[in-house]
This record gives sequence, structure tokens and C-alpha cells, in this order.
Amino acid sequence: KCAANYVPLTPINFLQRAGSVYAGRYSVISDGTRFTWKETHERCCLLASSLRSLNIAKNDVVSVLAPNIPALYEMHFAVPMAGAVLNAINTRLDANNISIILRHSEAKIFFVDYQYVPLAQEALRFLIPGSHDSLLAESSMPLVVVIDDINTPTGIRLGELEYEQLIRNGNPGYIPYELEDEWDPIALNYTSGTTSAPKGVVYSHRGAYLSTLSLILQWELGSEPVYLWSLPMFHCNGWTFTWGIAARGGTNVFIRNTSALDMYRAISEHKVTHMCCAPTVFNILLEAESSERRQITSPVQILTGGAPPPAPLVEEVEKLGFHVTHAYGLTEATGPALVCEWQAKWNQLPRNDQAMLKARQGISVLTLADVDIKDMETMVSKPRDGESVGEIVLRGSSLMKGYFKDPEATSKAFKNGWFLTGDVGVIYPDGYMEIKDRSKDVIISGGENISSVEVEKALYKHPRVLEAAVVAMPHHHWGETPCAFITLKKGSVGEKEDVQEGDLIAHCRKNLPHFMVPKKVVFLEDLPKTSTGKIQKFQLRELAKNFQVQ
Ligand code: ADP
Repeated sequence: KCAANYVPLTPINFLQRAGSVYAGRYSVISDGTRFTWKETHERCCLLASSLRSLNIAKNDVVSVLAPNIPALYEMHFAVPMAGAVLNAINTRLDANNISIILRHSEAKIFFVDYQYVPLAQEALRFLIPGSHDSLLAESSMPLVVVIDDINTPTGIRLGELEYEQLIRNGNPGYIPYELEDEWDPIALNYTSGTTSAPKGVVYSHRGAYLSTLSLILQWELGSEPVYLWSLPMFHCNGWTFTWGIAARGGTNVFIRNTSALDMYRAISEHKVTHMCCAPTVFNILLEAESSERRQITSPVQILTGGAPPPAPLVEEVEKLGFHVTHAYGLTEATGPALVCEWQAKWNQLPRNDQAMLKARQGISVLTLADVDIKDMETMVSKPRDGESVGEIVLRGSSLMKGYFKDPEATSKAFKNGWFLTGDVGVIYPDGYMEIKDRSKDVIISGGENISSVEVEKALYKHPRVLEAAVVAMPHHHWGETPCAFITLKKGSVGEKEDVQEGDLIAHCRKNLPHFMVPKKVVFLEDLPKTSTGKIQKFQLRELAKNFQVQ
């Protein structure tokens, strides 16, 4: 930092570069809207200057509740260009949780997409000083700015200010806030709380910059990609591709909803080359009606993660013309921490072996110094033999700075400099990692550890299983035993509609050691999910407590 040539690392520089190098190239395609990189750069400067004139100061938090729209993309640059910290809120949260985030983050400005005005209104009511529901009587209310539809304005407002008006009123001569320290915060992302209460994860400019570069390299994102926003930007800043697409002079294609029709239409109309998504989106692509589908004429690269993608789903989606790369990550690791980098020599292997290799979560991204599996008591590394299971720990530059206003949780999250993921897995001799479970989801049956993921993998091999979640169920003799919750695929004409519990148990017997076979199978219409689409196993565990199996 003392060197005369010290320049803080920040992904904001990618925009300044794109604005001149890729000036005439499309940065944004969304319904009727098209912007070039020159325009996107200018719009971000204008918005940043307006934020400054609204008294936004260094390290202030600017929150936003919006789907994947150009405004949310622009804010990824404009907010830090004003010296502030972007807090993109998950749109699937309820009003109460949104108000908790607004209060905890002490948001100074709250941008709200017009579609989410009723939800935001309800969340803001919780914050009104003296109101009945007020969580914090003395809380100062954030200034609210509505983001109206850019093409066909609805006129919906929540206060005086509107997004395009801030851009129009901006100062074209604005000089972006000069970052002095690369460790300064750029974004604040709240965890989805699958296993505990949401925590505010702080990303530094440096961490965001390094993660962005890693992912560009490891996913081999060449120049001029056409990137479909199917992954919500509120999820780890779109796994850093918000900044990454600017770095590669790519085109961002925005859709409000990840419906099959909208995704297929965007892919075919704009010749999409890349997209990211959770494995649940594969089901949307595969279950699409024929009227919604479009022919995929050149391969679309998909980076998937957030949950283990079932191998049969990957195979099916690849048959449609997608090419899947598997990644593993968590909010605290600024998105993907491991990527299953494909090796050319694997192309010669039989399909089954390839599917097994692809199911592994992979090797650490370049900017992580290391990944390991350890015994949590002793912190001694487990052998890298593909069999010894240990807790997955991470160390390196792309990890979070810490939890916002929570030094205790931050120090608990690390041990001897290693970040404890709460996941357990194995490392193979070639250095690739495979996750076996979240440590809380491991089923201990008669002293044997059963990986719920292994049982789910076997269930996914059944042709009628759409989703499978396996949890521990109390058992008088074994202590715990696996219980499976299943949703079924829609039956096609002439196909037997009903799959019975016994059919799936018999199927598992053929594919798993006896002690791993679920003793109970429950069919549900839907599985309970978090706001990021993850199955809430704690809810299923509660349900499973009601079952008694002899
Ligand atoms: P939350 O912990 O609240 O769900 P995250 O979105 O950060 O929030 O989720 C991270 C967790 O998701 C990881 O700890 C891991 O359990 C799971 N996960 C992410 N990617 C994968 C993957 N490719 N395979 C298996 N599990 C994954």
C-alpha cells in the first residue's frame, strides 16, 4: 500500500475500460431497451453524481429491491462510484425480513422496482417511528426511489423520486469517488439463512475484483459473450458476473422472470452464449411445453451451483444443446469458490464416468489460496483419497471481509485462518473435491454416517423423480434413518401415473447399500424452499419426526 505505484483493485475499473474500448458495442438488451457500453458508462456516472447530491457519503449503504433489470446492473457500478456500498435484497423475501435488512444495514437510500412497491411499502411500515409494528422506533427512514418501467412508465411512485429522473439530473462531468483502500466495502449481501439467521456478508473491492477475474478465467469467458441474466443479481452480485461481463465487453440480456418461454426466447433471439443458474432451472428448461421451446443452434455454456446438480438432469439438459460446468460456492466466498474445471483427457471417457467427474464440485478458483478437508476438532487435514470425509475449509483472497456489525460471528466463522463452510466432503487424489453433505444434514444411523446427497443421487436415477430431499427420521433402534421427500415429474400420456413408496424403496435397494435405503418415502406436491430456491431440510426434518417406522 505504501508503494508509489499502489492502485487499489476494484471491478469498477472494468466499466471505465468498457466505456471506451467497447464503446459502440451493446452492453444491455432488455425488452425494447438497448444501451451501448459508452451509454452504460455515462449513465452510471450520472447516477453516481445524483447519489452524491443526495448526500450519500463513503461507506453508506444503498439498498435495492428489484428483479434482473438494467437499473440493478447499473447500480453495481454507480453505487460504489459514489463511494457507497450496494445491498441488493432478495426479492423473494417477505416484508418482515426486508425490513430487518433495511434496519440492520442502516440503508440511506432504498431503490424499489415498480413491481415491488406493495412489498416495499409493507416493509417500510415496519420501520416507521412510532408505528404499531415498528421494529426500531428511532430508526431513520431510508429515502425511497422508485425504478419505473423505462419503456412504458407506469407512474407508480413511493415518494417523490424516480430512477430515470436521477439519471437525467446527474452531472455529466462527475468524477467518480476515488477509492483509497481496496479493502473498502463494495457490497453487502445477506445470506439466505438456510441453516441460521441471515447475516450481512461484506465484500471488499479487492475481493470482488479477484473473484471476478478468477471466474472469467476458469469459465473461459472469452470476449464479447452474450450473457443471459437467469441467475438473480441479488445472489452474490450474480456470482460477480455483473462486473465480469463489463470486463469482457459482453452483452447483458435481461429478463424479468426465468420462465421457460422467456429464457428460450432470449437465447434464440439474442444468440446467448453464457448463463448461470441453480440446478432447479434445469427443470424449467426440461419441463417446458413444446410451444415454449426453441432450437438451441449453438452451444450455450451454463455455470450451475448452489445445490448439487443431479447427474441425470445434467445429461438431459446437455442433450438440448447446453454445456454444463459445475461450481460450488457460498455467499461468504463471493459466489463460486470451486469450479469443476473440465480436462481435455476426460473427453475420451465413457459417458457414465464423465457424469461422475462432472458431479464433483471441483478445484478452488485461482484467487483462493487453498481448499482442504479437516477434522474439526483437531484441524488436521484428512487424506486426499476420495473416501475420507472432512469439513470443507477455504482460505484466500476472494473470501468475504467479514459479517457486517458482527465481529463475534466473523471470528467464529474462521479457525486458524480457515473459513469453515459447514459442508463436508472428500478430496480425490487429483485435487477435485466432492461434497457429501452439509454437516447438519448428515444422517447418523447406527453409528454409520449416511450422506443425504448420496441417497438423493440414487433417487434421481428413477425416471419419475423430479426432486428428492432426504433427511434424518428418528428410529427406535438405529437412532436415525433416512426419510425421502419426493416430487414427481408430470406423467406423459400412456405412462403409469402412480409411483408408490415401495417402488422407490425397491429402486434404492438396487442402487445403494442396505443401511442407506430410505425407510420411508413421502410424496409432496412441492418441497419447502428458501428464498434462493434451496430445499429447507429443517422443515422436512420436523415433518419426519411425525413418522414412526419399526
Ligand atoms: P445459505 O447457506 O443460506 O443457503 P448460500 O447461498 O451461501 O446460503 O449457500 C451456500 C451453500 O449451498 C453451501 O454451503 C453448500 O451447502 C450449498 N452448495 C452450493 N453449491 C453447491 C454445489 N455445487 N453442490 C452442493 N452444495 C452446494
